[in-house]
Amino acid sequence: MIIIMRKDAAKEEIDKVVQRVEELGFRPHLSQGEERTIIGVIGDERRLEPHLFERMEGVERTVRILRPFKLASRDFHPQDTVISLNGLRIGDRKVVVMAGPCAVESREQLLQTARAVKAAGAHILRGGAFKPRTSPYSFQGLGLRGLELLAEAKAETGLPVVTEVMSPQEVPLVARYADILQIGTRNMQNYRLLEAVGQTSKPVLLKRGLMSTIEELLMAAEYILIQGNHKVMLCERGIRTFETYTRNTLDLSAVPLLKQLTHLPVIVDPSHGTGKWELVGPMAKAAIAAGSDGLLIEVHPRPEEALSDGGQSLKPDKFAELMEELRRVAEAVGREL
Ligand code: PEP
Ligand code: MN
Repeated sequence: MIIIMRKDAAKEEIDKVVQRVEELGFRPHLSQGEERTIIGVIGDERRLEPHLFERMEGVERTVRILRPFKLASRDFHPQDTVISLNGLRIGDRKVVVMAGPCAVESREQLLQTARAVKAAGAHILRGGAFKPRTSPYSFQGLGLRGLELLAEAKAETGLPVVTEVMSPQEVPLVARYADILQIGTRNMQNYRLLEAVGQTSKPVLLKRGLMSTIEELLMAAEYILIQGNHKVMLCERGIRTFETYTRNTLDLSAVPLLKQLTHLPVIVDPSHGTGKWELVGPMAKAAIAAGSDGLLIEVHPRPEEALSDGGQSLKPDKFAELMEELRRVAEAVGREL
């Protein structure tokens, strides 16, 4: 349930409602908007009667949130969430592009890619230092050395960095280097990890599980939000279906659907979503047309030599061409890039 306070509600009135929520054994969650305060009541809804709060001073009305996700729901927070990061506003009019290699492989590979994506107009540098690989025999990432190289690339280009964190124990380390913490598809339902990133103040890029429904994605976001970190972006990166000509099936209908259900920014990853570099451009354009707030695109200077995901990585010149096309698509749908 949410309690909508009157526009002119006094601080003491708000405090009293919060106290009442706690006395009844629920967790209050304050959302202070420009106009008014909304108090989320977190806990077992069946035990809640609206009259418990409706007669209190300063309360305008209460609304039950029937969906299982609460803090992520648009009912709770009708305005779009905009995440501010180094002057960027993720979830606003501008479509934000995160680009870079699947994995950080070497200093030369990362710096070359970072310079190229920056020159093409990307806003954020991506690159994995800790890689969740299907096979334990595959390249696992450079770990700490990879994070240091990301820091060097950031210092040179000014691009903020998004990189994956795979375990709760590694959150403090990765958070020292990352501007955005990425939760990979395989960890979408690693609840201890979600709680750990929820306890940081870093924006989180939460990727949809490869076998997860949209509701499961939103419930995973809820685990982060409930810890007090409201800077969550949801990423559609393709789901597993019976189709084998693509690596995954990019579910673009998830974009307008998520925009309806939640206030959180939505990002699309056409690289993992298709697994084929030739399909990345068309699906990136479609994602912007569908209302995506951003894109995650893999770029590698020599995809044929990449230690992971070469087949879906764009060469820098192809990426630069794509950025020009994306700019036109963004303008056509009332956005910018
Ligand atoms: C990645 O972004 O390189 C990655 C491993 O993505 P996902 O978790 O979506 O497979
Ligand atoms: Mn990858």
